[in-house]
Amino acid sequence: MKPTLEATRPSGINWLSAVPFTLFHLVPFFALLTGVHWSAWIVMGGLFYIRRWFISAGFHRYFSHRAYKMNRVMQFLMALGGTTAVQQGPLFWASLHRHHHRYSDQPGDAHSPKDGVFWSHIGWVLSGKHSKTKMELVPDLAKFPELRWLDKYWIVPQVALAALVFGLGLLITHTVVGALGFTFIGFFLSTLLVSHSTFTINSLAHLIGRRRYATTDTSRNSLIVTLLTGGEGWHNNHHHYQSSSVQGFRWYEFDTTYYVLWLMSKLRLVHSLNKPPAHVMHNDLVRAGAADLGMFHKHWDRAVKALHSASEATGEIAAVQKQKLDELVVTIKARVDEIAKMHNPAPVPVISSQ
Ligand SMILES: [Zn+2]
Ligand SMILES: [Zn+2]
Repeated sequence: MKPTLEATRPSGINWLSAVPFTLFHLVPFFALLTGVHWSAWIVMGGLFYIRRWFISAGFHRYFSHRAYKMNRVMQFLMALGGTTAVQQGPLFWASLHRHHHRYSDQPGDAHSPKDGVFWSHIGWVLSGKHSKTKMELVPDLAKFPELRWLDKYWIVPQVALAALVFGLGLLITHTVVGALGFTFIGFFLSTLLVSHSTFTINSLAHLIGRRRYATTDTSRNSLIVTLLTGGEGWHNNHHHYQSSSVQGFRWYEFDTTYYVLWLMSKLRLVHSLNKPPAHVMHNDLVRAGAADLGMFHKHWDRAVKALHSASEATGEIAAVQKQKLDELVVTIKARVDEIAKMHNPAPVPVISSQ
């Protein structure tokens, strides 16, 4: 059967599997009942920034893209740090993300804003359709038993961290109620902020900002998303050259995730930080007239959807004609893809080959 545009739409939210994550959002509000010791806010900020960094530097740039190297002990510590962020384990995260780069804004992408902003931000999580690790996409990571263990028992480091925060709260406040309030803010609120900051990269980083490079997706460079994520907002740069350890390609595109990695490389904790070669920096520039396939697809899909809804409202186009229209759209899109590929060089690989 030939593909149609209707077939690309994602399935809806599974409210049963969405309940635990929805309830998680309510937990910090219990702090209104228990009260909060001021030091809980410092723990909240610290756990936000540290775990944000582990997700960006570890789960994203290292495990998903292999943008730099480290020894096996450091690799485990990086995986452990990321796993405390309640975004499942390293293999799951990397497999979902490699899948995103393979199908960015195309049918199959788990979280494209083309399927709606809500869907791209959190709807895909609530659907429960993308909670399994796609092992076939992470064979390079699956060969490490300690990473497989973390991926299977991802809940353990998270519960351990929550217990640690509760224990600290007990030490500071000397009461169980005080420790609970400490945990509601120190652990639960910081976890939610890390989650939403990651979701922002899936939603806003494909919606707001500027496009420097012509890519086959709708990624953008955004200062706002950069501020929310510690350097992950130069998302168009990233889609252009995915295996780079630095995402701010220009001196003024600050990237705090990379600055810490750079410091770690000086301390010999990590090494071989991959950076974009000069020719990659100057390829496919939108302002130089490169064919911007990603934006073409976006506007084309929008026009076709408008045409379909108009025809449904008026009944002017019969079902058979509509199917032909779908086929025509798919054919034209494929032809444009071919033409664009002739003008643009092949995309760089998702994983670093260094
Ligand atoms: Zn993206
Ligand atoms: Zn990526």
